[in-house]
Amino acid sequence: MQTCQQCKQEVELWNKQCSSCGFHLVLEPDEQLKSRYLRGPSLGAMFFTQGWALGARLYIWFLLSFVPIIGIVVLFILLIFGRRWSWKHGAWASWAEFQSRMRFLDWLAVLWLIILVGIYFWTR
Ligand SMILES: [Zn+2]
Repeated sequence: MQTCQQCKQEVELWNKQCSSCGFHLVLEPDEQLKSRYLRGPSLGAMFFTQGWALGARLYIWFLLSFVPIIGIVVLFILLIFGRRWSWKHGAWASWAEFQSRMRFLDWLAVLWLIILVGIYFWTR
């Protein structure tokens, strides 16, 4: 959590602007990278929604993703907001822990995709 340089309100790590006074936050290069990372899409959530939600510690979304039709909505929501929510609600010990988990999940999703494509061609 960072604070606004102008009004000292707490601001979420992924925000570029203060939500209470509109001040454009001056970010350290390191914070800028984190902020960009959190605003990025989580491709893992797209290819491997259930596994991703579980790994990202978004347990309610994990359960919701099993519900027909709603699961598709969950997929897109997690694709866009997944990283931010996981960072906020996941109770991660550090940024490094969070980021290595995110990398692992994205890698797992790619592997999952390869297996699915493999099965598809195998069973044709
Ligand atoms: Zn402010």
